[in-house]
Amino acid sequence: MSFKKSAMKVREAVKKHHKWMEECLTMIASENVSSALVREVTASDFGHRYAEGSPGERLYQGCKYIDEVEIIAVELAKKLFRAEYVNVLPTSGTVANLAAYSALAQPGDVMMALAVPHGGHISHAELSAAGVRGLKVKSFPFDSEAMNIDVEKSVEKIREVKPKIMLFGASVFLFPHPVRELREAANEAGAAIVYDAAHVLGLIAGKQFQDPLREGADIVTSSRHKTLPGPQGGLILSKEEYGKKIGRAVFPGLVSNHHLHHLAGLAVALAEMLEFGEAYARQMIKNSKALAQSLHECGFNVLCEKKGFTQSHHVVVDVSKNGGGSKVAEALEKANILINKNLLPWDDITNAKNPSGIRLGTQELTRVGMKEKEMKEIARLFKRAIIDKEIANVRRDVIEMKKSFKKVKFCFDREEAYKYYEFF
Ligand SMILES: *Cc1c(COP(=O)(O)O)cnc(C)c1O
Repeated sequence: MSFKKSAMKVREAVKKHHKWMEECLTMIASENVSSALVREVTASDFGHRYAEGSPGERLYQGCKYIDEVEIIAVELAKKLFRAEYVNVLPTSGTVANLAAYSALAQPGDVMMALAVPHGGHISHAELSAAGVRGLKVKSFPFDSEAMNIDVEKSVEKIREVKPKIMLFGASVFLFPHPVRELREAANEAGAAIVYDAAHVLGLIAGKQFQDPLREGADIVTSSRHKTLPGPQGGLILSKEEYGKKIGRAVFPGLVSNHHLHHLAGLAVALAEMLEFGEAYARQMIKNSKALAQSLHECGFNVLCEKKGFTQSHHVVVDVSKNGGGSKVAEALEKANILINKNLLPWDDITNAKNPSGIRLGTQELTRVGMKEKEMKEIARLFKRAIIDKEIANVRRDVIEMKKSFKKVKFCFDREEAYKYYEFF
């Protein structure tokens, strides 16, 4: 193959991918779609430039408009999350976590976090970012029935292991974490509280989940591209007193170029959340509750029925009786329904290849305008695909259904947005 052919093949693959995504129910809980305006600024010349340093004090020339954008991004994030300090430099959620670990702890210190089968993210583990900082990780005792941290047992364990950091937040995150309940135990142990909001930042922005900074978190770390529909990247929010330490840990510590095109996209996404975030987050939660209830009625073993299944964008299903997470996820992919397999609390971590669970997210379907009615339909499609094994028919129906949901909602119209910008 000539090099030109390789290049054209890349372009072709991207085009085919776009068409495929348009024809799929995209339900992977860590993903989202950004608006036309976010995409436009993300594809801009900002992506070719460097801007080390801070606005007004750059080490490079040519930054005056980049400075404007960075100032807007920080101001909007402060307003949206009522944060005293904001750092928009981290290039991913994992980098944001590593920066928080570097700012708060030394190698050899203990951090408490959730174990991966309980929903902890890999960057909370010793084999990833926590280990890179040399932290010893002890896990929070977990109540598998409530799918949450066990507060009483945690108080005991905090006294015993004396962590430097208590890390809340997870990648399987059905209910708010007990930040307020464990703040006193943190004080007693001299621990700082970090809240990893990667999954739920859009829900927090829409005031529909918990408010970690008001409940006792010292630092909030996050991605920008899960429920918050920005381009990929990371973000840190904190009380003013941690600002200097975080700033140094991020730059010059972990980031040199902060991906300025993604910074521009983030700024637009934050403005969209200030305008539409509440309505979006409310609908997202209504949708996940409706999806969970309908899947339950279709005969699936949806976790946490007694607690109303979920208070976030997540729905978690035990599919061990349906062949396990791998088999179910692969069958659904053939039907153009994209989800991922997931460990459940009782799974052995060595069995990660075929865990008992699947994790679903309603954020992206909500963004394109789906509501409770569509969630019911989707539950029936799951039943037909997995229980009745009608893959080909389901695929056809999914493609048909998606035709009515092509436009991203909860965002500025591009034309309107230009008018709006004159007031900035
Ligand atoms: C996705 C995720 C991250 C990491 O985000 P990246 O931007 O992919 O590095 C961190 N923490 C949690 C809880 C996550 O789910």
